[in-house]
Amino acid sequence: MINEILKRVWGYDSFREGQEKIIKSIMDGYDTLALMPTGGGKSLCFQLPAMASEGTCLVVSPLIALIKDQVQRLVSLGINAAAVYSGMSRQQIDITLDNVVYGDYKFLYVSPERLQSHLFKARVSKMKINYLVVDEAHCISQWGYDFRPSYLQICEIKKILCNVTTVALTATATRKVADDIVQKLQFSRPNIISTGFERKNLSYVVRKTDNKYGNLLRICNNVKGCGIVYLRERKKCEEISSFLNANGISADFYHAGLSSAERSRKQEMWQDNRTRIIVATNAFGMGIDKADVRFVVHFDLPESLEAYFQEAGRAGRDGRRSYATMLWNGDDIKRLRLLHSMNFPEPDFIKEIYQKVFKFLDIPYEYGGNSVHLFDLSEFVRTFSLNASKTYYAIKHIEREGYWELTDETDTPTRVMFIVNRDELYDLQLKDAVLDTFVKALMRIYAGLFSKPTPIDEEYVARLTKDSAEGVKAKLKLLATRHHVIKYIPKRRGTFIIFKNERLLESNMRIDEKDYLFRKQLFGERIESIVSYVQNETECRSRQLINYFSQPVERDCGICDVCIERRNMENYSRALETAARKITEFVTKREGLGIVTTVEDVATYAGDNRKLYIDALRAMTDTGRIFIRGAIVETPGR
Ligand code: ADP
Ligand code: MG
Repeated sequence: MINEILKRVWGYDSFREGQEKIIKSIMDGYDTLALMPTGGGKSLCFQLPAMASEGTCLVVSPLIALIKDQVQRLVSLGINAAAVYSGMSRQQIDITLDNVVYGDYKFLYVSPERLQSHLFKARVSKMKINYLVVDEAHCISQWGYDFRPSYLQICEIKKILCNVTTVALTATATRKVADDIVQKLQFSRPNIISTGFERKNLSYVVRKTDNKYGNLLRICNNVKGCGIVYLRERKKCEEISSFLNANGISADFYHAGLSSAERSRKQEMWQDNRTRIIVATNAFGMGIDKADVRFVVHFDLPESLEAYFQEAGRAGRDGRRSYATMLWNGDDIKRLRLLHSMNFPEPDFIKEIYQKVFKFLDIPYEYGGNSVHLFDLSEFVRTFSLNASKTYYAIKHIEREGYWELTDETDTPTRVMFIVNRDELYDLQLKDAVLDTFVKALMRIYAGLFSKPTPIDEEYVARLTKDSAEGVKAKLKLLATRHHVIKYIPKRRGTFIIFKNERLLESNMRIDEKDYLFRKQLFGERIESIVSYVQNETECRSRQLINYFSQPVERDCGICDVCIERRNMENYSRALETAARKITEFVTKREGLGIVTTVEDVATYAGDNRKLYIDALRAMTDTGRIFIRGAIVETPGR
């Protein structure tokens, strides 16, 4: 039956490694933790059982981009799927949840912060949930590299759902993290299934170099097909992208500072092979599904092997030979260690930032609980002359403590509100017929324009009024600035800060120091694991990575830089031995004929292999297999 669904819904002929086993475990009602590398096809493992049973599958996922992407994909398969995440208005959330309660929805995706709201809990208790799915499940573990406190809310939801089968999926869990997931999600019939972490077609390469640009260029020129270059800083993404273009290589850059429209455009261009190489921060990749990525280059060292494994794993999903190359030098290690201290500013600094944020937003003590504010981090940093990244991490720490939440950059819709009453609008009617028609249309499309700023969509209005979006915008502007009849807040892009509590007094704002130190230590350990990975030149890369995730390794990969170097070494020492035998033969024969042999004679005899024979001679004198007196070569028997 499951094969039939696979074919009918997805159009696939067969399962990938491990999928069937995971699906069966889920359908047999086991709480299942699936460990499968990035791109292995985890989504299908829970989506298929959900399609095979009645009700709605509730999926918790950490990133809005991931959620949107998955919902879109399901919808394009003709499956009813909805999503609820931070940044949606209460009204939007309300409508969406209602739809799921009363409609025939197969999937509801939700970001973890939304789980705790009363509205959500109330609605979920009315839904028929078949499976609770936790994607990127490592986020629930403090031991994981991407711990998100809001993931701990998932258990609360389990209480409402009573006895629902729980499914957790991740590509990056060490033994410790896996055990933690099972415990934190309160699995009652646990089943942990791990498909191999081995990527047979992926060649991991680590290069220590002071010439990263040259190395990058060589990779781009030698490896055909498209690639990703990962960098830490936004500005450098732009710089390296133009460096590549200047060298005749098609490239573009991508980072979180771009508008979402721009990001989608760049991503699409790359996905359609119109851009060959994308130079990006780690904002790029989650939810991207391109099978023929031939190489991933890390121009800077990543912060953890977990992140590295995920990012490198984006190469070669189609099974063809691909490369994951890490370029590094001593400066990178210094920078990583510096980052460690940036990431963990002093607790006093964190407390200071807490108060400054409220001050910046003009919120007095004991106010501001449960409110949402647009928050411009760079302006904040400028206002108080702060160090940007240190400040960012301080804000993120406070988020962990549960005082507030800082959202990703999101677009807020345009909002419009009439600031005159209906009578006063008549004035306008007499003055300008075109605008009057427009105003009437606007009132027809949106209710409530007189009572509060109402989100509107210019494109939508344009379609309904047979106008262009630009035309609509121009009219709104006229109504606001010339006629003063509306308040017009154009769409903008921004980060929001959501206060969970009111502003606390200095003395009441606490940071859990034990937790802080614990995380600081973990972060340090992760950085050191990257450092030892790049410095360990004697153990197969694939083995090192897989061992890090406490997974068994049967054999060396044979295609990483370590394996290749070792093979070259082995070949060379075999060649040396052959050369040594030949030299002994050659010299012995001449000695038998009474002919003296010089080093130059041996070199001439070696022909093209001159260097090899000289190396062999040196090794032979070291071990006493041959003697060199002056320039004369003699065997010991002589
Ligand atoms: P991840 O394990 O990283 O979450 P996804 O679930 O996003 O991976 O799947 C990666 C890609 O593999 C998707 O394009 C998906 O459609 C594809 N895929 C998954 N299962 C199969 C299958 N059985 N046959 C072919 N393609 C598959
Ligand atoms: Mg996934």
